[in-house]
Amino acid sequence: MKDLLSMTTEEMKKFASDMGEKPFRGKQIFTWLNRGVRDFDEMTDLSKALREKLEAGLENGEFIIGGCRVARVQEDSSDGTRKFLFEVGPGIEGTESEYVEGVFMKYRYGNTLCVSSQIGCRMGCRFCASALGGFVRNLNAGEMLGQVLAAEKHAGEEINHIVVMGMGEPFDNYENVSKFLRLLHDEAGKNMSYRNMTVSTSGIVPMIDRFADDFPQVNLAISLHRLTDEGRSAIMPINRKYPLGELLEAARRYTDKTHRRITFEYTLIRGENDSDEDIALMRKRLGGMLCHINLIPLNKVEETGFDGSSRRRAEEIAAALEAAGIPATVRRELGGEIDGACGQLRRISSCPNTSFSL
Ligand code: SAH
Repeated sequence: MKDLLSMTTEEMKKFASDMGEKPFRGKQIFTWLNRGVRDFDEMTDLSKALREKLEAGLENGEFIIGGCRVARVQEDSSDGTRKFLFEVGPGIEGTESEYVEGVFMKYRYGNTLCVSSQIGCRMGCRFCASALGGFVRNLNAGEMLGQVLAAEKHAGEEINHIVVMGMGEPFDNYENVSKFLRLLHDEAGKNMSYRNMTVSTSGIVPMIDRFADDFPQVNLAISLHRLTDEGRSAIMPINRKYPLGELLEAARRYTDKTHRRITFEYTLIRGENDSDEDIALMRKRLGGMLCHINLIPLNKVEETGFDGSSRRRAEEIAAALEAAGIPATVRRELGGEIDGACGQLRRISSCPNTSFSL
């Protein structure tokens, strides 16, 4: 069954002509959907007859308007960050209702949504809450776009940046994620610049090359966290398949091809990867690369048993890297009060039931 929210303008044009309409009608529907309008009656530039035909198609189950709904919202009073619990589905092909989280953040340069790309995750990183419930399914493009539209509607503000850094591994769901980026970029839709989008991967090497070809303007972030194979494999099982040497070579190919600075995320785990030796390894292996290191003191996930380094240690490490000519910053922690910070997103929300706001 067709999901209108997952369709590109071209697909919508075909959809319209298949209904016996002029193709540009499809583009008009695309524009409405991408403004968050889901009710055909509100699509005022369509004839009444067409709106009725669409309504009937929806009722007869010829297609759906997928995406997601906001099930719960929690706000961090200290910084205005909002964590959304989105309900997706029941979807196409009989998939059941599921839940994913997304996080809305306010930065000086605009509003950013951290988008989830999968329900659950297969990567199994030892420190991350998203891995805890295992993997359920991929999200389709409309379900990712739907997170942006639902969050915008709820916030009453436009989202002008997205980071695919929520639950899931985007390069384990490459087709849908790339379609989502294209939908956001479409000028008949949100018309978001590729430069305002960032995709983060745990290091699926072949997809890094593909991404460099397909989206040379989208920002790429790679979760590194450790700079020895032994150490990295112990906390990130994906390293056994794509070891560090191969990953860093792929990163070099990416910067050679795109001339864009790559971001390396480095989650600081107390006593695990934050020693002076670790700094020396970062200098040795990353020095001279077109990169920026984003240090993230680990956010607490009770089940994992790891602790984060102190903010002070993180600042020291950033300063040591800067002194060695490697740009480094400590990620501002947003949403810590509501378990909405990096690595804390889950399938079953930690939002208390009492925080229902819709
Ligand atoms: N799967 C992708 C997208 C997730 S991005 C990836 O791994 O890059 C989320 C970022 O938060 C990743 O860099 C991830 O390693 C990091 N992260 C996971 N658990 C964390 C935690 N408990 N504290 C801080 N960062 C964490």
